[in-house]
Amino acid sequence: MTRKSSPSIIAIDGPAASGKSTIGLKLAEALGYLFFDTGVMYRAVTWIALDHDIDVRDEAKVTALAEETPIDVTPASKSDGRACDVLVAGKDITWETRLPIVDANVSIVSAYPGVRAALSKQQRRIGQRGRVVMVGRDIGTVVLPEADLKIYLDASPEERARRRHAEMTARGANVKYEDILAKVIERDRIDSTRDVAPLRAAVDAVIIDSDKMSVNEVFEKALALCK
Ligand code: C5P
Repeated sequence: MTRKSSPSIIAIDGPAASGKSTIGLKLAEALGYLFFDTGVMYRAVTWIALDHDIDVRDEAKVTALAEETPIDVTPASKSDGRACDVLVAGKDITWETRLPIVDANVSIVSAYPGVRAALSKQQRRIGQRGRVVMVGRDIGTVVLPEADLKIYLDASPEERARRRHAEMTARGANVKYEDILAKVIERDRIDSTRDVAPLRAAVDAVIIDSDKMSVNEVFEKALALCK
């Protein structure tokens, strides 16, 4: 009897805080695949620019930074809630990439064509090796349009802000729901209206609206698509 094998390249795209990383990580673990969250690369470039006092509006300088900086994304070395390690020149900047100042600036950086070209090239090289769950905004449309399975994970801005608020409050942060909602909406606006590789579902993507679904329900649905 022939048995169809699981898709080798799985792309998961969707807006900020739609649960892509949670679902992608669970899926990768279940299949024994590499989990690769491409957003961390845009976050790493943003953090390095801020840390070097480079104005994120200076496209030329930020682009040069993206082209020159070797960013390594490796499996999590600590169980402190991280999905992976983000290393730049051997330095662990995993938690720096999650700072609110990075959230507020990353969409500006990721709209630069030169930054996207530099990072997409690295992402493509890793993705084409296969047995990978790659998560981002443009994986199914631009980075790996040949992906075997494309999932577009969506949820309303209110639900995504609610989840992000709960996550941050659990980590001890003192943040207001309204502020998070405003930031989620602004990041969606920039990500989906930029000229290069805007956020959108690929025509052949399976769209999952997770508004009224638990993490487990979304995971089971995604896993069923792999079988
Ligand atoms: O997924 P995450 O929220 O960590 O991504 C941070 C930012 O990186 C997004 O808001 C978007 O601007 C950018 N991004 C992107 N393309 C990707 C992944 C992330 O433009 N493939």
